[in-house]
Amino acid sequence: AQVHVNFDSFEYSHPDDIFSFLHGSKKRHNCQYRLLMGGENLGELTFSRRKKFTDSETVKLEYLLSSLLNPLHNSLMYKQAVTNALLDPLTGTQNRTAFDSSMGREVSLAHRHNNPLGLIVLDIDFFKKINDKHGHLFGDCVLRDVAREIKRVIRDSDMAFRYGGEEFVIMLSNTSPKGAKLLAERLRKAIDKLDCCYAGKRSPVSVSLGVACLEKDETETRLFERADAALYQSKDNGLNQTTIAS
Ligand code: GH3
Ligand code: MG
Ligand code: MG
Repeated sequence: AQVHVNFDSFEYSHPDDIFSFLHGSKKRHNCQYRLLMGGENLGELTFSRRKKFTDSETVKLEYLLSSLLNPLHNSLMYKQAVTNALLDPLTGTQNRTAFDSSMGREVSLAHRHNNPLGLIVLDIDFFKKINDKHGHLFGDCVLRDVAREIKRVIRDSDMAFRYGGEEFVIMLSNTSPKGAKLLAERLRKAIDKLDCCYAGKRSPVSVSLGVACLEKDETETRLFERADAALYQSKDNGLNQTTIAS
């Protein structure tokens, strides 16, 4: 048998904002459901319309909603898994997998539209010593602090990734070499001011950086190599500094 209930708008929101949408335009009368499955809150669903919902209509709606729970639960788990696959669990920044796919896309976009693209490679100074002196949990805390500072300083349109152990990469789409250099120095100074604290211990932290900007016909590998080489030059020249790739 077919079940019909007319409505003007249909809204869904997830408690953690994983996903939300509104279809139609909201009207005066509401019919709202919190979707619970085994104690887990799968979100809220609100139907609205100009005319009041009747009792027999809400019974029909509830019948339909009961068959929505399982597929919705599976879709939310899938969405979370896809998101998690691209995030570094320790720092919440995008991970190496995300970096590899973004880098290819950004480099070809920049070439196609003739836009500037900057790359900053950043490595924490004496990180092994910090770990050895204060323990790995303290080191983890330093990684989180540095990641937080990077996210605070960069623009929304910039992308930060944890490339490896204590190395981060920042991709600056549509940013001139001058802008990339400015941001690298702003990052360096901001991190240099940090005092990492954890479990009653504290430690200063600094980073070395390398900056490279995409050149005509350059491959993504070559761009990364130049930024990385510039970073090693910052290390060789005494750490806590920025080098611009030639
Ligand atoms: P430099 O100043 O030349 O950069 O030396 P460094 O000690 O910072 O660099 P090195 O490459 O010698 O050591 C990096 C250390 O990072 C070694 C490794 O144990 C540590 N590390 C990598 N990943 C993690 C992590 O997730 N958590 C913690 N606590 N340490 C990590
Ligand atoms: Mg390193
Ligand atoms: Mg290091």
